[in-house]
Amino acid sequence: MIKKILKYFSLSVLGLLLLLFLVLFSPGLWNRWVVYPKLEKQIKAFQSLRKEPESLTELNIYRGALHSHSFWSHDSEGTLSDIIPAAKKVGIDFIFLTDHAHSNSDTIPRGYQGYYDGVLIEPGTERQGFCTWPLRSTVIDWSLDKDTVAKNIVSDGGIIFYAHSEEDHNWRNPYYQGMEIYSIHTDIKDESLLPLIGNFIASGAKNREWSMRESFDEQTSILAHWDSLNQWRTIVGFSAVDAHENQNFRARYLQDGRVEWVGPNAKPIDTVETSILNRWLFHEPDENGWIFKFMIDTYEGSFNNVTNYVFADTLSVPSISNHLKKGNLFIAFKSLGDAKGFMFCSKNNEGKVSGILGDSVELNRVKSFQVVSPLPGQFRLIYNGKVVDTSSEGQYEYQWSEQIRKGVYRIEMHIKLNDEFVPWVYSNPIHVF
Ligand SMILES: [Zn+2]
Repeated sequence: MIKKILKYFSLSVLGLLLLLFLVLFSPGLWNRWVVYPKLEKQIKAFQSLRKEPESLTELNIYRGALHSHSFWSHDSEGTLSDIIPAAKKVGIDFIFLTDHAHSNSDTIPRGYQGYYDGVLIEPGTERQGFCTWPLRSTVIDWSLDKDTVAKNIVSDGGIIFYAHSEEDHNWRNPYYQGMEIYSIHTDIKDESLLPLIGNFIASGAKNREWSMRESFDEQTSILAHWDSLNQWRTIVGFSAVDAHENQNFRARYLQDGRVEWVGPNAKPIDTVETSILNRWLFHEPDENGWIFKFMIDTYEGSFNNVTNYVFADTLSVPSISNHLKKGNLFIAFKSLGDAKGFMFCSKNNEGKVSGILGDSVELNRVKSFQVVSPLPGQFRLIYNGKVVDTSSEGQYEYQWSEQIRKGVYRIEMHIKLNDEFVPWVYSNPIHVF
C-alpha cells in the first residue's frame, strides 16, 4: 500500500516538474529553433542593404552609452576588462557612467575617467532621479534639495538629465537639460520576469539580443510627454542602457579556498566548499576571478541594444558634452542595424543646411527638411507631438517641403520586422522659432 502511494506520489511530482519545465522553457525553445532564426535572417537581409549616405555636416558622429554602471555602484561588479572589450566589440566610442554615490558627499571624478583603449569614459552619478555629469572636479552635496543640486551643477557647466522618465520629476524645473526617451530598465519593468528568464535560458547566449528585445515596447506616453515638454523649451532626448551586467549567477574563489556564489544585483548568495558535486562547474579564473558565469544581461548586449549617436567635433569630453547639451543626437536600436550616417537637417532658401537635429533655427532659415539614412525604412515627421507625414517604406531619403511653421519637428524611422513596423531611430527635434 505504502509502495503504491509512494509510486503515485513520485509520478505526480515528476509530472508536475515536466509541466513546469514545459511552461517555462517551451516558448524559449520555440524561439530558439523557429522564431529567432527567422528574425535573424530578416535582419541580416535588412543590414545588407546598407549604402553610405551623403554627409550633411562637418561634425563627426560618435556612438555612446549614457547611463551605465561600474564597480563603483553597489549593484555592479563591472571593471574595465568587462566594459571595454564589450564597448569595442559593438562600436561604442564613449561611456558616460552614472554610478550610485556612496554617500551624500559625492566626489567627482572617481572610478574610471579618460581613454581606455580608445574608449572615452566620463564619471557621473545616478541619484535622486538624475543622471548627472558635473564634467569637473567637485563634490556634489546630495543632502541639498534636488532642484538646488540641479541648479548648482548646471550653473557650473555640468549636465543634469532626468533618468527613469516613468517616475515623478519636477518637469517644470528650469535647469535640467534632458530626459530618457527610451530606457531598457524602464521598458522591462512591466514584464513578468520568470518567462523572460526562461526564454534567456532556453534560447541560449547566441540569441541574447533577440531575448533582450522580448521586453521591447514602444514608450508612447514618455515620447508624448517629451514632445509636450519640448514645446515649452529644449529638452534633450537620450537613451539609457542602465547596464550593470548584474543579472547573472557567478562564482569565485575566496582567499580561504571556498567558493562564493554571487547572484542578481551582484549580491553574494552563498559560500560553499568545493566538492566532487560542484567542481565540474568551474573553470580557471578569468581576469576578474570568475570561475563560473551564467550571464543574462551583459555590457555587450546592453550597449548594442540601444545607442546614442552624437554629432561632435572630436571624441573628447568638452566636445561630446557640448553637443549632448544641445541635443545634437539621435538614438537607434542598434541590434537591428547600425544607424551611423543617419541625419535630419533643415535647409534654407539656397538649399544649404541651416540646422541639424537638436538645433534651434529661425523660421526664415527653414525652407525644407531633409533626412538621410544608411538603411531603408519608413520616415515619420512629427510636428508638436503629432505625426504630420509618413513616407512609404524602404526609403533611404526623405524630404519635406510643405509649409513650415514655428514649432518642434522630429523624425522617427521605423522598419518592418515580421511584417510589423518597429521603431529603429528617434531623432532629437529641430526647434523652429
Ligand atoms: Zn542606473
